[in-house]
Amino acid sequence: MHRFGFEVKLEDGSGRARAGRFATPHGIVQTPAFMAVGTLASVKSLDPDDLRAMGAEMILANAYHLHLRPGDELVRALGGLHRFMAWDGPILTDSGGFQVFSLATLRSVDEDGVEFRSHLDGSRRRFTPESVMRIERNLGADVIMQFDHVIPGQSDEATARDASERSLRWLVRCRDEFERIGSEGVASGGPPPNNNVTARFVDSIIEAPPPSPFPPPQALFPIVQGGIHEHLRREAASTIRDLHDWLGFGIGGLSVGEAKPDMYRILDVLDDALPRTHPRYLMGVGFPEDLVEGVRRGVDLFDCVAPTRMGRNGTAFTSDGRLNIKRAEFKDDARPIEQDCDCAACKRFSRAYIRHLFLADEILGLRLLSLHNVHFLVSLMRRAREAILRGELASWSDAWLARYHSRPTISA
Ligand SMILES: [Zn+2]
Repeated sequence: MHRFGFEVKLEDGSGRARAGRFATPHGIVQTPAFMAVGTLASVKSLDPDDLRAMGAEMILANAYHLHLRPGDELVRALGGLHRFMAWDGPILTDSGGFQVFSLATLRSVDEDGVEFRSHLDGSRRRFTPESVMRIERNLGADVIMQFDHVIPGQSDEATARDASERSLRWLVRCRDEFERIGSEGVASGGPPPNNNVTARFVDSIIEAPPPSPFPPPQALFPIVQGGIHEHLRREAASTIRDLHDWLGFGIGGLSVGEAKPDMYRILDVLDDALPRTHPRYLMGVGFPEDLVEGVRRGVDLFDCVAPTRMGRNGTAFTSDGRLNIKRAEFKDDARPIEQDCDCAACKRFSRAYIRHLFLADEILGLRLLSLHNVHFLVSLMRRAREAILRGELASWSDAWLARYHSRPTISA
């Protein structure tokens, strides 16, 4: 039987940060960890070998996008997402809630679900908690997220309450459909699923789980919503904990337009409201300073498209803030993007060369910056983990943040 588990190896003595290990059917993730985003089953411009070389352990894909193209049933027929994209490590799929509410047009929300038009061809579609569970089952990621109602970050209390309570009702339906699929194997097409779908949470980690048959056991994570309203967040967390013995918890609806102090305040609230024994995943948050602030508040997993999106736009993360490689000051700069970075870009290429690639529209340029940026966040979390294990997270993160903010960001 393939199992999920989470063990906290050490909690930092001076704060709430913890170093842990999250076991999945496709391997163990050392936490805190940044998950690179492969929206369309591809971390843009990066090969799975690049990701392994930089030490990435878990990646993310998106149910909305893969449902529209190439179709989740096709992915299932080809052996599931792991085989389809040649990544044999842990994968998480986002449910598509965020995309339906941000990308799709003509959406109408009712209690049953959301009707929208595809951003690709305008075709009319409908997502319900049940249909999204079947899509995520077909894709076959290790961790799947509930379908939720996502709202802008500065929404008022009434709007946030309405969306949060709907998300909780949808969570019940996700849970029921997830369990029904597991016992009956109703997901359409493909090989018959095994019956060990409902994974079991164990207190200690099993080493080297055997390769999983498809579809593998999956863990369904609920998502805590509630906007920037502390009492709504507490209520949602409490209700969610009463609904099921979850394997982990998603924190949604942050980094969607609210002020950073509001995000940090809500994370403080949720650190107390969520069990310390289970992994916490802060969804869609991936700027370096937010990762460090999140780790200080007990977050274990992060994801964001920022490193690859900004890389394609010519922006690099460095320990001294962001850097726009296209600026004239780098024209003859022989230094790497970051002096002590051991990524495949910084070990070989100068700022001047990468700037030249961008100005000449050479695709290697955006690939090198994407590679550096993902490597930057993956290794940032590795260094945070090491600091926690040394019992020095507070001083390490103070120094890191001071340096990162010490210089105005030089991004166009
Ligand atoms: Zn680098």
